[in-house]
This record gives sequence, C-alpha cells and structure tokens, in this order.
Amino acid sequence: MELRRGTKGPVLVLDDGRQLTLDSDEESIVACVSHAHMDHLSGMSSGVALMTEETRLIFSARGARYRNHMPLQLGGSVRLLGGDVTFSARSSGHMLGSAVFSVDLDGLRLTYTGDMNTYPSVLHDPAEVVSGTDVLVIESTYGSPVYRFAEREQVYASIVGWIRRVLEEGKVPAFEVYAAGKAQEVIALVNTSLEVPVVVSRAVGRVAEVYRRTYPWLDFVVEGTREAGEVVRGGGFVYVSNRRAPTAWRSEWAVATGWALTRTFPGYDAAFPLSSHADFHGLLEYVRSTEPKLVVTVYGHSATFARFLNRTGVKAISLDEKPLIRMI
Ligand SMILES: [Zn+2]
Repeated sequence: MELRRGTKGPVLVLDDGRQLTLDSDEESIVACVSHAHMDHLSGMSSGVALMTEETRLIFSARGARYRNHMPLQLGGSVRLLGGDVTFSARSSGHMLGSAVFSVDLDGLRLTYTGDMNTYPSVLHDPAEVVSGTDVLVIESTYGSPVYRFAEREQVYASIVGWIRRVLEEGKVPAFEVYAAGKAQEVIALVNTSLEVPVVVSRAVGRVAEVYRRTYPWLDFVVEGTREAGEVVRGGGFVYVSNRRAPTAWRSEWAVATGWALTRTFPGYDAAFPLSSHADFHGLLEYVRSTEPKLVVTVYGHSATFARFLNRTGVKAISLDEKPLIRMI
C-alpha cells in the first residue's frame, strides 16, 4: 500500500492498484471529501464520494452537485470494498459538516484530518482526536512556529468592539469573508454578542440557509429581499459578504482570516486574525494527543512542520517533499 500526492490531496493506492482518494481528483473507487470548501471539491467521477450530508448540501448550494455521494455522518462508520475497508468520520471543527476521515484496512488505521481547527468556536467544537491511529495525515496550513493565534474570545472581542465603534459613527460595519464557514461564524458572533440585524450577500445566504438546519437560531436577511430592504432603511446593521462591492450605504470594510496575522490588507479599515484552521501549536497538540507511528504532513507549511516534528522525535514526512510513501 502506498500514499502518494495527488492532483489536489493524498491518494491511497492499494496493492491491487485500486485507489482511494482523500480530497483528490484521481479516478478512485472511494473518494473521501472532507468539507465543502471549493479547493477540496473532488471525487465527482469516483465510484462513491463519501461525505457528510452537510457537506453535500453546502456544495449543492454553491452549484456543485454530486450524483455519486454516499452519506457518512460525523461519528459514523461504513464498511466498503466487500467489507475489507472501514471508513469513519469525526468532526474536524473547521466548518459545518467538516470531517476527519479514518480508513481501516489490513490492520492499519490511517487518519486524514482534511482542514481542521483544534479550538472551539461560536459554532463548532474542536477537531476530534482519533485514537489508535497508525498513520496521521495532517494538514499543515499554519505549520510554522510564526503562526500563533490569540485566544478566539480575544479576537471575537476585538471584532465586536470594532462593530460597535463603526455603528456609533453612523456607518455600516462590512465584512468580506469566505462565503462558507467564516461568513456564518461572523453572523453567529453578531447574533450572540449584539442586538443588531445582519444583512448578507446572496452567496453567503445560500450557505447560511444550510447552516440554519443545524443552528435554527442563526438570524440574517438576504440582500435584495423585502426584509433586507427594511433593515437597510432602518440603518444600524452589519453586512457580511463574500466579495467587496460598492454599497448604497456608508461602510467600513474588514476582513477576518488567519492570514491577517502576517499579511497586511491595504485598503481595508480592519483585518482580524480569525482562522478556521489550527495554528502551529494546535497542530502540534493534535499530533501529541493522537500518538501516531508516522505523521504525514500536507498543504501549506508541510516541510517546515515535518522537520519540526522529526526534531522532537516524532517520525514525520512531508507529502509535498516526498510525493510517494510506502505504507506497509
Ligand atoms: Zn477548508
């Protein structure tokens, strides 16, 4: 059995040549699709595409419809390939429906984190640790020691403080954020911290409707509707959009992304380091809690993170540096 770097994500190649993909687009008998961000859209032509129902619905709301999907809920397992391989899904804490996948075959347990967050947010619990993992394939988007995020509550407090100040100045606090995940977190933060209505762009609204199945208390109105028109006329609201566009009202614009820790965002009034990913210490803690025999790092700072793990006595390989790894 081999693990190799595919077009998008890892590919597990069985001894008979059959392939299982993990967020990758190669031909496969089973594709594991970890979450509904477009850079992880994959497996549409696979035998079956395993994903949570929430992931399928969010992709569908964004215009990507799977005909080969097989639902696997968080906490659940399914045996495929004649019962030889068991696939399990646990929460990865990254966005609604996001999964850490485990694959059990030939006495080996391989766990793939997809994108994950190891800290609790206003919507999600931290990523679950999968015990008994032999090989941990872990994302390393922020796998460098320079990435250390402040406590989420602290970041939330600075966002809420900024919203209050902008509203007091008679302007509209506007956020340009990812349509799926970050936008809904900002909506939830405003709903739980302030008594202020939220107007969202249509793309954000389509995904937020899916979130509302799990979080019925999410409160927002979609731009262009009669309700939104009334809110806008009344003033004193927060605007959440997936793109920055001229507005009919006076706005101050902010971004909310982990990259705000190290990058500047010229032209924006504020940039908040709110990430849906684990930072370096979160990744490290996840590896320590999992206690795998081998760590394989993928995405982002995979080489840096693997080097750091090796120095601390944990056997690790970057799949970006070594795109083919023999498993057994
Ligand atoms: Zn993601």
